[in-house]
Amino acid sequence: MIPVGDGQARILAQVARSTPPEILPLTAALGRVLAEPVRAPFDVPPTDNSAVDGYAVAGDDLPAAGVRELEVVADLPAGAVFDGALRPGQAVRIMTGAPMPAGADTVLPQEDVERVGSRVRVPPIARGANVRRRGEDVAAGAVVIEAGSVLRPQELGLLASLGRCQVAVHQRPRVALLSTGDEVAEPGAPRKPGQIYDANRFTLRGLVEQSGGAVVDLGIVPDRRELLRDRLLEAAATADVVVTSGGVSVGAYDLVKDVLAEIGGVDFWQVAMQPGRPLAVGRIGEAHFFGLPGNPVASTLTFLLFVRPALWKLAGRRRLFPEGWAATALEPMRKKKGRREYKRGIVTFADGAWRVRTTGPQGSGILSSMVAGNCLIVLEEERGDVAPGETVRVEPFWEGVGGLDPASPTSDPGS
Ligand code: AMP
Ligand code: MG
Repeated sequence: MIPVGDGQARILAQVARSTPPEILPLTAALGRVLAEPVRAPFDVPPTDNSAVDGYAVAGDDLPAAGVRELEVVADLPAGAVFDGALRPGQAVRIMTGAPMPAGADTVLPQEDVERVGSRVRVPPIARGANVRRRGEDVAAGAVVIEAGSVLRPQELGLLASLGRCQVAVHQRPRVALLSTGDEVAEPGAPRKPGQIYDANRFTLRGLVEQSGGAVVDLGIVPDRRELLRDRLLEAAATADVVVTSGGVSVGAYDLVKDVLAEIGGVDFWQVAMQPGRPLAVGRIGEAHFFGLPGNPVASTLTFLLFVRPALWKLAGRRRLFPEGWAATALEPMRKKKGRREYKRGIVTFADGAWRVRTTGPQGSGILSSMVAGNCLIVLEEERGDVAPGETVRVEPFWEGVGGLDPASPTSDPGS
């Protein structure tokens, strides 16, 4: 039995990217991981330009007090350029975003001036006001998005602002999904007595897609050694990662670990955690193998803890673990020392503090405990029972597309 952090570190030490990047149109790149740093080919914005609708003037023409009348010599819509240069006593009517005319360095908002025929009366204002500087968003040559960043809507907009219509991203890791168990039935098909519908393959599909993987669905395999062996070999031949659920504990029909040992290699299979203790991690040929437990909460949790970081690394992401934060426990929680425990929680922020309660019954078969919750409550190995008012660590189930991706390479797998 190994600690959660050791299991994560062992997995990540085995996982490396090898596939070449692919080029995608920006319109198909949301959520993908940037394969190379993006540099600005020019300053953004490319020229000094007006931040408001108003009048561009030279700072030397601004009155110290009272008002001063200037001659309006041109009207510039956005996109138009004033050729020539402003002379003393002149102003140009300018729209938001229009390049500053030569000789002008300040813009007066139109609501602050009085227009009289071809002249405009301007009050005092700070020299340089209401001008966006060339390069103030991005300077030419600067790295604007680091390799390994997840492309969120704002990254796509920034790429477009640089004139790019394509981007190099990492290929998605291919992930084969397989449910095991004689009792597991396909949703939509009739269910025989004693059968349950397959929940795990659908949760896991969503998790794989959210983690940037491409799903290869291999359906359900009964608890028969030869069938399982054939299906796993097929899976390993077509995918970078193979994920199964069920059949990894110590029951008479729990065949996954045995078959894995026969056709590949078992790296570890017991983790000091609750729920999710039995888990078979290893290799089949070139493919990484994760045999997750059958109980729906346990398979979801072990995916989040062990498979997601591996997929994120394969997908080229820099950060491999979600951020957590501290919250005050609102209720007592039972906790056995010596193993990491994860409860499903509901965390809320009110009156300046994060507070968390559990979703109720925490059995590892109770999938509704995850539906009711919005976070995991992480109770570390050395911790015992939790009393109300104590501080606990919480982690969101999911962070949306990308989440924050700070510059540090990978954060601590033990956290
Ligand atoms: P196992 O580890 O195969 O003994 O499975 C543990 C528990 O999880 C049993 O109650 C199974 O019926 C259940 N289970 C296994 N696979 C699935 C699945 N794909 N969807 C929902 N429950 C499952
Ligand atoms: Mg089973």
